[in-house]
Amino acid sequence: MNKEKFTLIGAGLTGPLLATYLAQQGYSVEIFERRPDMRKESISAGRSINLALSARGNHALKEVGLYNKIKPNTIPMKGRMIHDLDGNTHLQPYGQKENEVIFSVSRAQLNMDLMTLAEETGKVTIRFNHQLLSADLEQNKLLFQLSDSLEEIELPFNRVIGCDGSASILRKSIVEKADIQYVKKPLGHGYKELTIPPLESGKFRIEPNALHIWPRGNHMLIALPNNDFSFTCTLFFPMTGATSFETVKTEKDILDLFQSQFHDAIKLIPNLVEDFQKNSTGDLASVYCKPWHLGDKALLIGDAAHAVVPFFGQGMNASFQDCSTLAKLMGQNKNDWKTIFNTFSSVQVENGHAIADMAIENYLEMRDHVNDTEYKKRRNVELKLERMFPGQFIPRYSMVSFHQIPYAEVYQRGGKQFKIIGDVLKADPSGQSIDKVMVEKMLP
Ligand SMILES: Cc1cc2nc3c(=O)[nH]c(=O)nc-3n(C[C@H](O)[C@H](O)[C@H](O)COP(=O)(O)OP(=O)(O)OC[C@H]3O[C@@H](n4cnc5c(N)ncnc54)[C@H](O)[C@@H]3O)c2cc1C
Repeated sequence: MNKEKFTLIGAGLTGPLLATYLAQQGYSVEIFERRPDMRKESISAGRSINLALSARGNHALKEVGLYNKIKPNTIPMKGRMIHDLDGNTHLQPYGQKENEVIFSVSRAQLNMDLMTLAEETGKVTIRFNHQLLSADLEQNKLLFQLSDSLEEIELPFNRVIGCDGSASILRKSIVEKADIQYVKKPLGHGYKELTIPPLESGKFRIEPNALHIWPRGNHMLIALPNNDFSFTCTLFFPMTGATSFETVKTEKDILDLFQSQFHDAIKLIPNLVEDFQKNSTGDLASVYCKPWHLGDKALLIGDAAHAVVPFFGQGMNASFQDCSTLAKLMGQNKNDWKTIFNTFSSVQVENGHAIADMAIENYLEMRDHVNDTEYKKRRNVELKLERMFPGQFIPRYSMVSFHQIPYAEVYQRGGKQFKIIGDVLKADPSGQSIDKVMVEKMLP
């Protein structure tokens, strides 16, 4: 029986999932969360109303026993529905197999279900309205502010794990104390959410089983379906510059932008101007940090360790895979926290960096390349190669979204495959014929 008590900071998506894994291995957990309990008070779940859940996330939800509860409330998305400038649409499937789909899930519902699951273990307590202000990692003390009274309290901890998201205070304290490499790279582009409501008949206004994209070069609009038959649209757009969130402000600016770039979306978003002006603009950045731990005392996980931009739909999935990996290490190295934290950090850091880089690359693909003739030709060759070399050649998107292959390996294999596709097209620019022997020699 494990008696040790863990302190977790943050009851977003990662905190309660990790708490459940810890509880299932016999540990007690106390989570401190700055927000009130969203199951009791109507508050926003924060960024992005819905999220794309894929294999890595599903795997962790299966491990802790939440998958079957979540699954009926998800909406499968088979591919990208591309909206051209002239209003034409076409579907680019994500994969070639029936089960190669990703799922739209409500962030708030998932967060609430994860908290309830954690509490149901009987070993997890969530203290809401506790905002971590700083951590004294020398004296094992945490300073919190209570959001209702603004009172500050100091509490001791034994081992602390930061699940407090991309602006992590625990990370700040670790970086101040130890020799940690840390950089936060702003993308320069931010996002704004808008809503496509259901039709009056209560149905979806556009195809629900797809992730809709309006790719427009240096910016794009996307839409994911919700259970209430609405869609959440997200405009990704430069933060500053001649045409940016800084300059598009008035009703005329907003309508001009949509008329010239997303004409077919105007009729789908009845409250376009109001939503645009009222809804906040979120900024986006990638966090690169190494290592993710301080001895056997403190650890970072999820966005606190590796916030990534959302274009591969992997931030949460990567965070859930972190929890699964950590749980496996806990099982293998019973209570040897030095080894557990150290191994976790050395294994996962390069994976975190790889998905951060791939997510930035995918922004360029989604907003700019998906409609290029060259991209489409490459994609055709990629799919042919997958059919020719099953299991050996797996498109990068599929390795990320439908497999558990570590991201660093995906990045490396993806680079080699990119070269193979280039060589195939060099030999036959139409991409019709493929020299099987040449490809075989190039495959790892
Ligand atoms: C626009 C957008 C779209 C996205 N889409 C996807 C997607 O489709 N698929 C996907 O996999 N990922 C997506 N992500 C990424 C995903 O949201 C994150 O990776 C995920 O939320 C990480 O979970 P987390 O628990 O680590 O951090 P968070 O969800 O940020 O949770 C952190 C928690 O810590 C609490 N907290 C913060 N500071 C303190 C403090 N000082 N004291 C106490 N509590 C604190 C916060 O209130 C919060 O509850 C998207 C992100 C954005 C911005």
